[in-house]
Amino acid sequence: PAKLSIDYAAALNPQQLAAVTAGDGPSLVIAGAGSGKTRTLIYRVAYLIDSGVDPSNILLLTFTRKSAQEMLERAGELIGARSRRVCGGTFHSVANLLLRRYGRGIGIEPGFTILDRGDAEDLIALCRAQLGLNEKDKRFPRKGTIMEMVSKSENTLKSLDEIILEEFSHFADHAEDLGRLQKAYQAAKRQKQLLDYDDLLVALRQLLLLDETARQTISSQYRYILVDEYQDTNRLQAEVIRQLTTAHNNVMVVGDDSQSIYAFRGATFKNIMDFPVLFPGTKIYKLEENYRSTQPILNLANCIIDEAAEKYTKRLFTRKIDGPLPALVEAAGENAQSRFIAQKILELREEGVPLSEVAVLFRSSFHSFDLEIELSRRGLPFVKRGGVKFIETAHVKDLLAHLRVLANPMDTVSWHRVLMLVEGVGPKKAQDLLAALVKSDKPSDVLRGASGRSGQGLKNLADTLESLSGAGEVRPAEQVNHIYEYYLPILKEQYDDYPKRTRDLDHLHTIAEGYPKVSDFLADLALEPPDGSAIDVDAPDRDDERLVLSTIHSAKGLEWQCVFVIWVVDGKFPSVYSFITDDELEEERRLFYVSVTRAKRHLFLTYPINVYDKTSGMLLSKPSRFLDHVSSDLLDTLALVEEGGRGDWGRDSY
Ligand code: ATP
Ligand code: MG
Repeated sequence: PAKLSIDYAAALNPQQLAAVTAGDGPSLVIAGAGSGKTRTLIYRVAYLIDSGVDPSNILLLTFTRKSAQEMLERAGELIGARSRRVCGGTFHSVANLLLRRYGRGIGIEPGFTILDRGDAEDLIALCRAQLGLNEKDKRFPRKGTIMEMVSKSENTLKSLDEIILEEFSHFADHAEDLGRLQKAYQAAKRQKQLLDYDDLLVALRQLLLLDETARQTISSQYRYILVDEYQDTNRLQAEVIRQLTTAHNNVMVVGDDSQSIYAFRGATFKNIMDFPVLFPGTKIYKLEENYRSTQPILNLANCIIDEAAEKYTKRLFTRKIDGPLPALVEAAGENAQSRFIAQKILELREEGVPLSEVAVLFRSSFHSFDLEIELSRRGLPFVKRGGVKFIETAHVKDLLAHLRVLANPMDTVSWHRVLMLVEGVGPKKAQDLLAALVKSDKPSDVLRGASGRSGQGLKNLADTLESLSGAGEVRPAEQVNHIYEYYLPILKEQYDDYPKRTRDLDHLHTIAEGYPKVSDFLADLALEPPDGSAIDVDAPDRDDERLVLSTIHSAKGLEWQCVFVIWVVDGKFPSVYSFITDDELEEERRLFYVSVTRAKRHLFLTYPINVYDKTSGMLLSKPSRFLDHVSSDLLDTLALVEEGGRGDWGRDSY
């Protein structure tokens, strides 16, 4: 065997080492939070390269593209720059890459457009109108709900009828119409070369199933497949992996069933238990030592997950015996909660905990609004993850729609958006123009031919688009610039907060400068937008001078010295909506487990009391039910004492 350049046994415990140096064939690493699953994959990448595997034969699939990048950087520190040739990304980004390269075989042109969730819903509405379906029926599901059904059906490989029966039985009367609508939606996408997120995976699976040559080529290209966070994959993704590995069967997946939190996307923790069934001969590795958190934090985490109805992974132990008890903090109201956190962060900073080692986590993006104001007031810079994405903001979508019609003139969803922005164009006019546009191969002629109130606006649009089409491809940054000039008056007309929005568009221009090709620029933005660019507050140059505010979903796999989990009040966490079914409540419990296991040393669970919840009409006043069975010696309970409205607090004895 080749001489290895790293001392693997020194960096890994025996179970991790066994997984890292495993031979060919399928392997599953199943273990609790902070036990080194991700670290194991990083060392596995290094080990494979070290033992002579060509880096370009390795495919690393992760939950976000950022985590793939970070993992490959870490592998690079171990093994050198060769790790850069490893292909890493999300299922969706890899599907995008492979479909642009090999999709022709199943009728997908390399220039296809990726529809984000909002675009997809708009197309559903468009199809519904075209079919004239139940136009006046108020009990027909809304476009968002329809999208959810369609998406569930794709991701679970079940028929739409089955999904309706299982989860949307109150719409059973409409099953037939919904079936027609689903077909129309699919036909519209195929015809116009539009793919929504689910299609990327569905189409990749089809390509691998139907195009023997492509499958052979792809499967022998990626001879080693590694997957992180496997508990959040769905049936479709599992199938894709199976197809990808037909030529070699070399696949290693790692995950923790207790951290499965994406059921709403069709993921199920059962998938991880099915892995050995799908891949006979799977070797299973379990990791038991937690390297992240102190014993007091782990005690709480174990206690929360012990109550779970179903779980497979075991209890964890740590050698970090000492540390402060997790604190449970009662605040008189939301603002008291915010003030406590801001003040605590300042104190911790005095004690030497840098802002980059602090995170505030919450269930829903809007839970942090009050805190955001408080932090800004105190000059504490933060970056926010999750929630409304930059790319989903209306003005960014507006501008990009122009680039998209240039790249794919068949993209009727973007055309619709572009046309509706023109002064004097209403829904009727837009429909007429769309009908003419799909038939013509010179869009600018159609636009120029229009008469009436919108004539001048449409002529301007035609001029702008024409200046960017033509010989050779204009670089993305230049396209953004051009469209920006055209769009600015529209922006000012539409939004009174336009100065803020123009800054976002400047930011978009900066991003575009990093791309030589428009298709790559558009695909990357649609797949995974750059970190919450629109909501960075006082961003200093260096990332490490900011704390992180994040939804728990976006905090997966990450760790900080100090973690605050806010709104740990019954009715918000778990949310009142999750009281409905046991499955949903269990999912919230796992979400809670994920949040507390992000902390290395300091953990604060805070909850405001006497908050009135408008939707449910409930007065929220007790801490999360997930803490009901936690014995009181595992927590340090504090109640804030309000003094003259200032955020002082004292110890209480409840
Ligand atoms: P999660 O379930 O949250 O994704 P994980 O199982 O992927 O967690 P890692 O993030 O890989 O865990 O590891 C948690 C922390 O423990 C990291 O800081 C990692 O570097 C450290 N760690 C893991 N294994 C070891 C080890 N053998 N020696 C030293 N540190 C380790
Ligand atoms: Mg991990």
